[in-house]
Formats: sequence, structure tokens, C-alpha cells
Amino acid sequence: MTDFPTQLFINGELRAAKSTIPQINPATEEPFCSVSAASFEDLQDAVQGAHLTFVSEWRDLTPRKRTDLLFALANLIRKNSESLAQLECRNIGKPISDARDEVELGARVFEYYAGAIGKFFGQTIPVGRGGFDFTLRQPMGVVAAIVPWNFPFPIACWKAAPALAAGNTVVLKPASQSPLTAISLGKLAREAGLPSGALQVLPGQGGQIGDALVQHPLVRKISFTGSTAIGARIMELAARDLKRVSLELGGKSPNIIFADCDLEQAASSSPMSVFANTGQDCCARSRVFVERPVFDRFVELFVASTRKLIVGDPAQDKTQIGTLVSSSQREISEKFIAEAQSRGRRIATGGKRPINKGFFLEPTVLLDVQIDDRVWCEEVFGPVVSIRPFDDESKMLQEVNASPYGLSGSIWTNNLQRALRLARAVESGVLSINSHSSVHLEAPFGGFKQSGLGRDLGMTAMEGYTELKNVYVAV
Ligand code: NAP
Repeated sequence: MTDFPTQLFINGELRAAKSTIPQINPATEEPFCSVSAASFEDLQDAVQGAHLTFVSEWRDLTPRKRTDLLFALANLIRKNSESLAQLECRNIGKPISDARDEVELGARVFEYYAGAIGKFFGQTIPVGRGGFDFTLRQPMGVVAAIVPWNFPFPIACWKAAPALAAGNTVVLKPASQSPLTAISLGKLAREAGLPSGALQVLPGQGGQIGDALVQHPLVRKISFTGSTAIGARIMELAARDLKRVSLELGGKSPNIIFADCDLEQAASSSPMSVFANTGQDCCARSRVFVERPVFDRFVELFVASTRKLIVGDPAQDKTQIGTLVSSSQREISEKFIAEAQSRGRRIATGGKRPINKGFFLEPTVLLDVQIDDRVWCEEVFGPVVSIRPFDDESKMLQEVNASPYGLSGSIWTNNLQRALRLARAVESGVLSINSHSSVHLEAPFGGFKQSGLGRDLGMTAMEGYTELKNVYVAV
């Protein structure tokens, strides 16, 4: 028995399925519930129901009514915030304090887009005295939102909220490892008064249900966050009937430290820029470039701060670093570490399993890493960072931009000209100067190159859930 929903959420109702996906608490390695896995018939019902709600109700609702409903949903998220946070913590081993912040972010995202509905409009365009020209921002129809397991609740919200606000209906496909808060979100949306079919939640195997969802003829847009490999597959499938896609994918973000920065601040905040969420963060600053004169001091401070991080039971308030999501996700990190060691790279701290039970791994700092090492080039998606010295700004920049990814990054310097020069030159969708903050719900978030296409958050995301129509009237 559970006190949270574990079934599919289709047309306003929970629905059991023949097959299920066991959910394991990564901190105890124990299964604690099973979640229904959608069949192709369930998928058909969910997409058709979402389409029906779109054409019969949601797209033509007054902006005022849609605003009220999304505000009501934000209120319900807040009212249930503690149980949602506890659920996320148990489902993926995320520290409870982070889970609480992320649920709050989800509520604020719904509020932001609820407030945006009445302020989002087209333009009138001067085309000469013979006619009158204006644009409309029109909803697309059914949006498939496919989300990963590392930030399940906020990412579900930052796709569903702008899509719904713009007048679309949504079929949300959570990751198989983290479906629980998504199902609750669907149920809360219905409780808030959204029509049945506005937000369907469809747990199921990505390779089957996700793949079929992407190809469904009634789906007009796919908004995906996950790995670059699956993002590329979705783009290929979507190309067949020119579905709209936005993709938030992997990253290998740089953290660039110049000698003139506030070194204490940079070094004490840098560990959490890569180890937060146990490194399972597409924005993780896992490549640190340090100007040579301050390299030794930076490493000393970085390692000292890393050793102070509290790794442990995600359910405890004081915990900063929880578990990896699964045993296999931990093995991926361990393989990177072992390979680096076999090539003679140094472990300055970490590298071991600190607790016997649970998928824990110490935050790990690697030194003497070379630019063709796999750990320097590839996304680890675990608590592993490499720190290298640099001497020359332009060579360092070449190395930064040599990555196929371009999602996020930080530049630490007190030289304004240099900060602005590099902010322009680094190939990345999101950058922070003298900070590690990547996500602001009011600002666009997404990547260059193989880190993605399109943007989540801000008004840019809302535009991405509409078609732009131009109307000319002869006068
Ligand atoms: P993933 O394997 O790509 O899975 C992401 C989602 O796609 C899951 O819901 C998955 O379902 C589904 N999926 C899998 N195969 C599919 C297919 N053929 N068609 C449609 N959907 C399919 O990625 P992940 O392992 O969950 O997440 C880790 C990756 O996500 C990392 O590379 C990370 O950098 C990236 N990420 C990027 C961002 C960003 O904003 N840029 C944010 C978070 C994560 P199942 O779980 O059922 O397989």
C-alpha cells in the first residue's frame, strides 16, 4: 500500500496497467512500490484525450480562466510541497532540502506562466496603406513532454506550464526511474480544475512508449530533456512529419578561474557547481580551468571544501550530497575514475563508496588529467571533476570550445573586459560570471551544439509552444 498515486493518469483518472516498473529507493537499495507502465492502447487513449481536450476546451478558454487554473495548480503544488519533496527524495536519492527547493521552483514556474498568459500577444506590422497586418501566437495542439530522472519535478513543470499557458495540452512521459512526482502533478492539475485530458501522465518504457509518443500523428511538438543520443533519435523521428522539437541535452561545462578573481569565493562555491545532485546535472561544471599562478592554492581550497560536503542519507535535512540514482549510474562514474587512475591520473580526494548500503559515491577530484582523457571530454553524470591549469587565455578558450557540448559554464574574474570578452566567445547557451547559478525561471535555458535546440523557461519557452501566424487584411 502507498499513500501516493502510482498509476497512469489519463483523461482525469488514475488507470492501472498490466505491466509495472519497480521503484527502488537508491539510499536503501530496497524496492518500495511499483508504477504502472503504459501500453500502446493507453498511449492512444492519452494522446486522443489530450487532442479532444485541446480542440473542445483548452485552446479556446479565456486567458483569464486559464490563468486562474494555473495559479490554482501552483497553490496545490505548494499545499502538497512536503509530500512531493519526500517522494522525490525517496524515488531518486535527492537530498530533501534540494527536493524542497525544486518543488517550490515548480510552483513558481506555474505562477510565472499563469501570469504571462494575458501578457503574451502578437504584433501589428506596418506594411503600407493598402493593408493591415498582424500576427497571432497560436497553440500547436498536443505537446509530448519527455523528461529525465535527475530533476523530475521541476523539469516536468517547466515544460508543462508554458505549454499549457500557451493553450496546448500535454502528455507527460516521466523517466522510468522517477515517475512518482509526475503522476502526482497530473492528479493535482485535475484537482485544480484543469479539464480532463489537459495534462496526461504516461509512465512507460522510453524505447517503446516514448518512441511511439514521438511518432504519434496527433503530437505536434516534442519537448525533450535527456541524453544527446536519445535527443538525436527524437529529432530524426520528428523530421519525418516535421514535428516541432526542443531538446535539452547533455553537457560538459567549464568552470574558468582567473588569478584575479576572488579565489576563496570561487573555490568554496565550485564543489557544489559539480557535485550538487551527486553530479547528475547537465550543467555540472566538470572541467575546471585554473590560471597557473593560482592553481595550487585553488586546488587546495577546492579539495578542502569538497571534504566538508555532507554525504549521506538524503532524507536528513543537513545532507548535501545524496546517492546516485542507480547502481549502474554509479558504475559509470567508477569506470571513469578507474580509467583515469590506470592512466596515472591523481585522485586528490574521493573515489570510494563512503557507505555500504545505497548508491553513494564520494565526490571525486582528479588531477593531472590530459585533454584527450575520456573523463575530460565526456559527460560523466556523476560526482567527478577534473582540474587543469592554463597559461594562455586564447589556448584555454580553444580547449573550452573544443567540446561538442555547450550548455553552461562559469567565468571567475574581476576584469570586466575579460569577463565580457569571454562571455561572448564561450560557445554555451548559459553562462555565469562570478557565480555558478545557471537556472533563472524568467530567463531562457538551453544549449549550443550537442547540448540541444530551443530553450526552456522565460518567455522564449512560451514562444516555442506556439505557431506564429501572420494575417494580412486589405483595407
Ligand atoms: P535519457 O535516457 O535520454 O532519458 C530521458 C527520457 O527519455 C526518459 O523519460 C526516457 O524514458 C526517455 N526515452 C528513452 N528512450 C526514448 C526514446 N527512444 N524515445 C523517446 N523517449 C525516450 O536520459 P537520462 O538518462 O534520463 O538523463 C540523463 C541525460 O539527460 C544526461 O545526458 C543529461 O545531461 C541530460 N539532461 C539534460 C538536461 C538539460 O536541460 N540540458 C537536464 C537534465 C538531464 P525511460 O526512463 O523510460 O528510458
